Amino acid sequence: MDNTVQPYVSTCPVGCSASLTDTTLALREGLLRQCGECGQLLSRITESAYWDSMQQFDQHEFNQPPPRELDRRFRVARRRLDTVSALLEKAPAALRVLDVGCSRGVEPAANIAAAARAQGLKVHTGLLADVALPAASFDAITLFEVIEHLKEPLPLLRECHRVLKPGGVLVLSTGNTASWTVAAMQERWDYFDIAKDGGHISFYNPRSIALLGTRAGFSTEQIATSRVKFHEKGEVARWRYAAGKLAAELLNLPARLASRGHDMLAFLRRN
Ligand SMILES: [Zn+2]
Repeated sequence: MDNTVQPYVSTCPVGCSASLTDTTLALREGLLRQCGECGQLLSRITESAYWDSMQQFDQHEFNQPPPRELDRRFRVARRRLDTVSALLEKAPAALRVLDVGCSRGVEPAANIAAAARAQGLKVHTGLLADVALPAASFDAITLFEVIEHLKEPLPLLRECHRVLKPGGVLVLSTGNTASWTVAAMQERWDYFDIAKDGGHISFYNPRSIALLGTRAGFSTEQIATSRVKFHEKGEVARWRYAAGKLAAELLNLPARLASRGHDMLAFLRRN
């Protein structure tokens, strides 16, 4: 690895002043580094490699779920909406919801935004701050699989704070490094792999996501985790993959109860 090239991320994105130290998790880009205060894990990727990998996202086909996936995705979205509705004590149909950076709502990738618009959704192309939405105008904002891409998530969260009504809810999803998946798989977890998940550079745990919220003016309502796995497909013999998958399924509920799943969903309340 070329140590003369400065990593794109050189301070903790959560806003800690603690320094970053090397972990033993070895990615293609070098060892993951960790914040001494919140435990955030950070890629050593260079700035040019980061932007190259982000470019791969801006395609029409990207993120289009296969038809057999649609039912499941709809159920997941419905469950999240019901949680927001319960937190705000307001019927789902009465909620004004803004989705940021998930291909619809507000999306910086122009081709993806165009594809979402073609399906009849109202989509602004650009960054949330550039769209200049009116203050205190939404009940809820969702940031699904966004913050792991950002070197500086705090300005975005503060803009969400401004756009949300007082008491409004911010919903974030991202991976959880404090999961049994990471304990078992270490750097083999494909969420760490920039070739599979373009632009992933900053990896959260329940503590760091709550701290990020606090620093942007939110309090934590709930942080839930789900799912574990021990192998990626094709990584081991088929029987081992099947055995690992069975074990992971048996551990789904315990993982959820112990906050050790690798998918993390946070509901934060605007103060
Ligand atoms: Zn930190």
